[in-house]
Amino acid sequence: IFSNVQTAPPIEVFALTRAYNADQNPKKVNLGVGAYRTDEGKPWVLPVVRKLEAQLAADETLNHEYLPVLGLDAFSKAAVHMLLGTDCPAVIDNRALGVQSLSGTGALFVGAKFLQKILGYDTYYYSAPTWGNHKLIFDTAGFKQGRAYRYWDPATKNIDFEGMCEDLRNAPENSVIILHACAHNPTGCDPTDAQWKQIAEIMRERKLFPFFDSAYQGFASGDLDKDARTVRYFAKEGFELFCSQSFSKNFGLYNERTGNLTVVMKDAELAAAVLSQLTLVVRATYSNPPAHGARVVAATLTNKDLFAEWQDHIRVMSSRIIQMREALRDRLVKLGTPGTWDHITRQIGMFSFTGLTPQQCEYLGNEHHIYLLRSGRANMAGLNTNNIDYVASAIHDAVTK
Ligand code: PLP
Repeated sequence: IFSNVQTAPPIEVFALTRAYNADQNPKKVNLGVGAYRTDEGKPWVLPVVRKLEAQLAADETLNHEYLPVLGLDAFSKAAVHMLLGTDCPAVIDNRALGVQSLSGTGALFVGAKFLQKILGYDTYYYSAPTWGNHKLIFDTAGFKQGRAYRYWDPATKNIDFEGMCEDLRNAPENSVIILHACAHNPTGCDPTDAQWKQIAEIMRERKLFPFFDSAYQGFASGDLDKDARTVRYFAKEGFELFCSQSFSKNFGLYNERTGNLTVVMKDAELAAAVLSQLTLVVRATYSNPPAHGARVVAATLTNKDLFAEWQDHIRVMSSRIIQMREALRDRLVKLGTPGTWDHITRQIGMFSFTGLTPQQCEYLGNEHHIYLLRSGRANMAGLNTNNIDYVASAIHDAVTK
């Protein structure tokens, strides 16, 4: 039965973590996986999360009963408000729905499956390059056509905006366009507000469906509203859209699979029908979501003091990353490493698209025990005051050897 099964290619980012864990060299550095690290190189359980977890553990009114199929209502409402703001017309008119999901990945899958199965959409577009999972999710959800739109221009180390617009203009009607809400992964380059306006115009004219992916709200700039402004702009402009939300990075809840699918519709009267179909997609996929992360997030987002505490935490994380960007750029400039390095500080979010070649990335792993994706994407949170000099001189070596 299984004799014809071909071995699938490994998932690069998990393979890198395995290689890093197996490496015995004390100088090893993991710049692969997209997870926050403290200046000591350790994962960080946010203090507000720790505090709530202690409270939840002591609360004997809580139990492990199933959540409803669409999850914890208080959570999905709070997640929608965090994304769109409470003054968003779609929120005020009850045209914005939330469905708790298995983190950002689960929201993307449930949304994609709904679009494919219920609306019959069959073509999606992703930025070239994009997060490594987008294609797998949409293909697995049954989309027939996955096409790239131009995004990254290696020559300018910036967005190929003309190319992007041209590709969107040529997309067939009802194509689903995956857009990164902020802190584009892997390039760290977002369109400007003026460029988003042009993108919206093309999408409206060409009848393209925006599927935003919001995995870094608050984490990119330290400001929740700023990081959500593009999704809010599209919603205010009257677009119907989906947006997947991940609480992995901004709450550090990676393995709790805490996410939400926000649906913005034109007509509140159709909400019940849409929710009923989403219910069946979830029911067939995993039946209902886990409670723990959703309870933590809902409690934080609905309490003024906890919310303020959490905002401090996201500012700590985003500012440490910005400091590391500056530290790396400054060291490479000081070392006289050939090339320009300003893009490292221009880019935002967790990653820098360094411009290093696949060979240079492999060399860094093999010779210097520094692990990053072959695309040159490096997690800036993997840098700290102890390893920054080592990483900068290793990059210098890889570029000049
Ligand atoms: N989308 C993007 C762009 C991401 O970078 C990530 C995580 O790295 C996700 C979605 C989803 O992550 P998760 O499923 O852990 O929420």
